[in-house]
Amino acid sequence: MTLKTKIKFYGGTGEVGRNAILVKTDRNILLDFGAKQIPGERQLIFPEVPDEKVDAVILSHAHLDHVGGLPYLFSKTSNALDIPIYSTLTTKKLTTLLLDDSVKIGGSECMIQPIVDIVKDNLMPISLNKTIRIGETTFSFFSAGHIPGSAMVDIRFQDERIIYTGDFCLNENRLLMEPADLSAFQNIDIPISHLITESTYSNAFHQSRDTLERKFIESVKAGLETGCVVLPSFAIERTAEILRVLLKHFPNKQKIYVDGMGIKATKLSFNSCDVKKSENLFQNLKQASQIATGPNRKKAISGNNIIITTAGMGEGGPFLWYANRLFSQDTIIFTGYCVEGSNGRKLIDGSETITVDGIETKVSASIRQHSFSAHPDKTDLIKLYRLIKPENIFVVHGENTEEFSKELEILGYNSKGPKIFDEY
Ligand SMILES: [Zn+2]
Ligand SMILES: [Zn+2]
Repeated sequence: MTLKTKIKFYGGTGEVGRNAILVKTDRNILLDFGAKQIPGERQLIFPEVPDEKVDAVILSHAHLDHVGGLPYLFSKTSNALDIPIYSTLTTKKLTTLLLDDSVKIGGSECMIQPIVDIVKDNLMPISLNKTIRIGETTFSFFSAGHIPGSAMVDIRFQDERIIYTGDFCLNENRLLMEPADLSAFQNIDIPISHLITESTYSNAFHQSRDTLERKFIESVKAGLETGCVVLPSFAIERTAEILRVLLKHFPNKQKIYVDGMGIKATKLSFNSCDVKKSENLFQNLKQASQIATGPNRKKAISGNNIIITTAGMGEGGPFLWYANRLFSQDTIIFTGYCVEGSNGRKLIDGSETITVDGIETKVSASIRQHSFSAHPDKTDLIKLYRLIKPENIFVVHGENTEEFSKELEILGYNSKGPKIFDEY
């Protein structure tokens, strides 16, 4: 496979975390630069920094595995001040929140405010569906339906067209997000030469959203019969979505608390055009009680209340305050994917302790999980490929990229599951 446009992989190959892909046209354009958190530790690991001079960075969305490495990239790059970072407006806001929070947590010597401030200064918000020119190369964003602000990237150079999916979701049935906007593929003016696709759930078939919601609500109700219910949830998107699901199913008198970074992330998502407007997110948040202090937390766990809190995988945030203060009659329900080795994964697998700053801590509450995925499953991944008919597919952002790539070859696609430093 020899391409006119060169594509080189610097991170996110064969793993979920630290995405970084360099597209070389007449300019060197870096797609995402993420970070990966090592479970049980605060430390972050980053993609490899390209040898090539980077002319621009384009961000797909504001998750740590797509933007968390920007301070590292900037600390290692001599022309950092001159590198524009393009994203949607909501991604700019949420990236700022995430990076400022990363400074508080530490996790790397590059996570310091002066470097993060340079990154923030270079963030340039771009509207969806607007064409931006960098040299002879153009690109545009269209909505990816994954989290507020998330976008697929459509890059064009000469007669080639490259689509980077970032993380996306086609599901019509979610309460918070509009699904990915596939209208850009309805009339394909230029055939798609190269598709760089996420593959988080290339091995899985999701249950229907209605079934998932019903089972989740049953678990919450069962938990409330004996005690309080703590719902560890990702700050961005998941906190707001879980809140909407609860408000739909519980009467006004049921007390719902929201704690942690999810409050700010939800506020920054109010005006994002990809958030469903059938309900007002601002009103949703007002219907819950927002927690800011320790005494409020004590009050929240003293009754049969619901508490939505970060961190989604139990690796930080106020969850660590709650974890060892809950009793056996209380319930913790994880609402998302918990990576191998994380506190969430350990508890789901039956452990009675978690690691907090290196110290084993006992957790007495009952543990459950109902994972509200914001990613495509295998059916939806293949649905996208059938629609856009790419000449080449590069599979990244998954633990089984090589296997999935081989499956795609059997289906007749020209596909690769690249390794780090591979260039095509
Ligand atoms: Zn994501
Ligand atoms: Zn991701």
